[in-house]
Amino acid sequence: MRLLFASSEIYPLAKTGGLADVAASLPAALGRRGVDVRLLMPAYAGVAVAAEAKAVARLGNPFGLGDSLLLEGHHPDSGNKLWLLDHPILFNRAGGPYQDAAGADWPDNDMRFALLAWTAARLCRAESPMAWKPNLLHLNDWQTGLAAAYLRAWGGARPGVVFTIHNMAYQGNFAAERVPQLGFPWSFYTMQGFEFWGRLSCLKAGLVFADKLTTVSPTYAGEIQTPSFGFGMDGVLAGRAKDLSGILNGADYKVWDPAIDPHLPQRYGPDQLVDGKAANKAAVQSDLGLDTNPAAPLLVVISRLSDQKGMDLLLAVMPAVLRSGAQLALLGSGDKGLEDAFSALAAARPGQVAVHIGYSEGLAHRLQAGGDLLLMPSRFEPCGLSQIYALRYGTLPVVHGTGGLADTVVDATFDALLNRTATGFVFDQPTASAFQWCIERAVGFFRSGEHWRPLQRQAMQQDFGWDQAAARYLDLYRSLRPNGAPAKSRRKAHL
Ligand code: ADP
Repeated sequence: MRLLFASSEIYPLAKTGGLADVAASLPAALGRRGVDVRLLMPAYAGVAVAAEAKAVARLGNPFGLGDSLLLEGHHPDSGNKLWLLDHPILFNRAGGPYQDAAGADWPDNDMRFALLAWTAARLCRAESPMAWKPNLLHLNDWQTGLAAAYLRAWGGARPGVVFTIHNMAYQGNFAAERVPQLGFPWSFYTMQGFEFWGRLSCLKAGLVFADKLTTVSPTYAGEIQTPSFGFGMDGVLAGRAKDLSGILNGADYKVWDPAIDPHLPQRYGPDQLVDGKAANKAAVQSDLGLDTNPAAPLLVVISRLSDQKGMDLLLAVMPAVLRSGAQLALLGSGDKGLEDAFSALAAARPGQVAVHIGYSEGLAHRLQAGGDLLLMPSRFEPCGLSQIYALRYGTLPVVHGTGGLADTVVDATFDALLNRTATGFVFDQPTASAFQWCIERAVGFFRSGEHWRPLQRQAMQQDFGWDQAAARYLDLYRSLRPNGAPAKSRRKAHL
């Protein structure tokens, strides 16, 4: 099986969220199962050096923006072969993958990611400058969605194409005039194609033209076929229901395990839970300027600051939560209004609220280890990784029961406590009152002591490793033949 896995971010080379973690660890798990994997991403600033990549081919100049090169290197952790799309004008910039340093979207994101998609498609074709050709192409999110459309537009032989939705809210919708500029015939710009409310939608291109669709949790797979969660694409998805499945993301326990985590002042496994948590909590409190009080419940948040993540709900409940004596340590960045509001809260409540606006891998790990509760009041959550990591660190998640949060956290109900399946606290409605009540319930457990350690132990025992998910992706790949034909069930798959 020769798999080309295309993503706009791959940890640790470029990361803005969970997609990067998945794009590193899923291909690594597939590689361990014998799949011949190549990764493809853009050569953002510094990536070629980190991946020790060298130019191996010219890719041409499809949109008249100048030549691009293909670089070949390897993923620094898994060692998987990595191809980089090198077009310095488009990708070698100071700032993030999608936004400049001030947080504004790059104005040419359409051309940047159309070129990434074009390159992914090109590498699957006879015209590819490389001898290695995939018999499966795995695309991720809107940034690579057009690859599925290019392969259809060009016709002829192509690999089976899988498209994974990591978040329906990001769609890559652009002006219709791009259709010919990107080399597509107008016949693709229809309701049955990638037209979406008068724009060219890169997400819809993936949804319509890929052979199989996946998303990152079973609950989200159902939710996105409804108007409340489909962001206008629910009809398209319902029409493709038989090709859509939800496969829960995994956690990379080589990166996220408190027993071996190099970022922690003190490592711990289930047997050192009490001392380990206490030491990490004290370190977080003192590093962030919080009162070093072991009895104060420490609530942690590691999140993009956005409406999706329910950060406005968090702001709304903070006055009441703080009155109860809890502390908050928040790491995040995003919406400017939310950044300012949380910074103001920290300034008003020194010793009780610490806010770090920005991105810090090390602090994310230390908060996971030092916190008592991790808060995720997301309005929708395709999978969510932070709560899965929190379980392993014995930091009990408080989550809205949606998407992957519903699939990974078991609420501490009376029954679940009795049969030892509870791992956290879940609330049903994304409202401030439901969230506040859930935090108070969780804090009640923390303070009473009863059930607290067994709950933490139960959480730490959960196994969301990649093995199960990788096996499901393999089954899906095996169900596909080149050109999207289904594998014949009588014949053994020999991909
Ligand atoms: P999403 O992809 O929607 O942002 P996930 O929960 O799937 O949310 O993944 C979030 C990932 O990003 C986790 O690995 C988390 O640790 C990380 N993360 C989020 N915000 C920050 C931040 N400010 N600093 C460091 N890591 C962060």
